[in-house]
Amino acid sequence: MITVRFAPSPTGFLHLGNARTALLNWLFAKQAGGRFILRLDDTDRERSTEAFAAAIVEDLAWLGIVPDAIHRQSERAERHAAAAERLTAAGLLYPCYETAEELERRRRLRRVQGLPPIYDRAALRLSDEDKARLVAEGRAPHRRFLLPNHDADPLAIRSAPVGWDDLVRGPQTVDLAAQSDPVLVRADGSFPYTLPSVVDDVDLGVTHVIRGEDHVANTGVQLALFAALGAAPPAFGHHNFITDAEGAPLSKRTGALSLRALRAAGYEPAAVATIAVMTGTSDAVEPVAALEELVGRLHLDHVSRAPARIGEGELDGLNARTLALLPYAAVRDRLVEHDADLGEAFWIAVRGNLARLDEAAAWARIVREGPAEAAIDGDDRAFLAEAVRLLPAPPWDETTFKRWTAAVGQATGRKGRALYRPIRLALTGREDGPELARLLPLIGPAGTSARLS
Ligand code: GLU
Repeated sequence: MITVRFAPSPTGFLHLGNARTALLNWLFAKQAGGRFILRLDDTDRERSTEAFAAAIVEDLAWLGIVPDAIHRQSERAERHAAAAERLTAAGLLYPCYETAEELERRRRLRRVQGLPPIYDRAALRLSDEDKARLVAEGRAPHRRFLLPNHDADPLAIRSAPVGWDDLVRGPQTVDLAAQSDPVLVRADGSFPYTLPSVVDDVDLGVTHVIRGEDHVANTGVQLALFAALGAAPPAFGHHNFITDAEGAPLSKRTGALSLRALRAAGYEPAAVATIAVMTGTSDAVEPVAALEELVGRLHLDHVSRAPARIGEGELDGLNARTLALLPYAAVRDRLVEHDADLGEAFWIAVRGNLARLDEAAAWARIVREGPAEAAIDGDDRAFLAEAVRLLPAPPWDETTFKRWTAAVGQATGRKGRALYRPIRLALTGREDGPELARLLPLIGPAGTSARLS
């Protein structure tokens, strides 16, 4: 079965960029009738917290994503250790004793010499006595994976292209000769992300890995690891990153764009999802009423190579257009929360005039109580008094306004703005807003007469 995973570290709140990765995976799984796993990459025990893990689950749910399963890397340490054992037994994991400073010095030296700044495998030259001496000096080794970029002699590195057909970028190649042997086990025995990720992907039956393009080189290395562990690799897709209009990373410049900040600011999850998914593709960013509608719209091969730029105010515009599509059933509970539930006809009347859903409360007040004040000119007072006399007899519906204003126009000789503006001002206190034909039956005969008189 098609199985994907979204693998955040619970070391912070999800932001729009994480939402893009999560949604691309989720939508891809939905398209294939597959499974979506949330894998919490919590091997960094110092920075990972339960609170962030819970927040990730909650923020995904707000977007509309409920994982089919949740796994934690920290619970799978034995599997990671077993894989490290197997690699060691196969001679593919070797101890290194360099300190970070030594490594940095050597990298600098290689750069000066015009060599790629990769690890030179110096540790492979150490004799058993050397190693014993280093350990006696108190150095604990970290362990590196011997990349398959050599023939019999690992010190003679040769070109070793690894290729895959990327779900987003098409055919890709990474030359393992240009990569350092990755550290798979730290000196303290803990595992950086590289090996656990591969082991978990194998164990959890992950068939497709969709992640950010910062992982492209990593994929070359991880493909070698899948092979070393005798496992068939998943397919890979690497997507571009969301940036602001200038191409700068969103999360750094606007820390406020965590999903919870967007939620607190009153944005619709469907608008946030749409902008996170459709920006930076060759398809239009068009609003949807529900996340499921994006399933048919996503084409991974339409995701572009350039950054996914989000312009100033773009989310606001999309949010308004999203609200205009939402059916009453989808918003009713939230209208109740905002004391703005005046029924379906009210929602249909106002939904096209909202930047945020909570603005419906102001319209509900206007419908219920009338405007706080309405600046009506002297001339218009007499006109409105005439209009009141011409109000049709109940019952009122959405055709009433047209009949009424036709009669008022005829009687007063007014038309266009001169006819409609004072009526709108008297009824709502505002220059523009929802269609009066829809508002009028909601305000009703008594409310209308009171406001016009
Ligand atoms: N925890 C990794 C990250 O956030 C996951 C990368 C991956 O999807 O493999 O970068």
